[in-house]
Amino acid sequence: MSDSITMGGGKREFICIVCPVGCPLKAEGDGDAVKVTGNACPRGAVYGRQEYLRPMRVVTSNAAVQGGDRPLVSVKTSGEIEKARIPDALARIRGLIVSAPVEIGQILIDDLAGAPLVATAAVGKV
Ligand code: SF4
Repeated sequence: MSDSITMGGGKREFICIVCPVGCPLKAEGDGDAVKVTGNACPRGAVYGRQEYLRPMRVVTSNAAVQGGDRPLVSVKTSGEIEKARIPDALARIRGLIVSAPVEIGQILIDDLAGAPLVATAAVGKV
């Protein structure tokens, strides 16, 4: 199966992570189009285009907690952010100090490179 859209240039290969099959995708700029091959289904073509043009990832990490029964709380972006912005996002998380108590799902940063940063665990106050 293959598909094409406008934009892009050069060749790239990556594994489709949409389902456990893990098809090996090839994405290639073809003039003003991007051709995706190696996908066994249309979802792979969509993923291949996105990965080629603007790769996105959910970021998971830990943030410091002040006054809590644990020193760290696990966090993640509630949606995907641009892969290129992950280093800046991680730097912001490293500089973050959250005051206890922390609830699961609590928004810790409203906009971290385009998505809220939320707590994925609770931390009690001491
Ligand atoms: S291309 Fe389709 S079948 Fe292959 S890994 Fe992606 S989602 Fe799964």
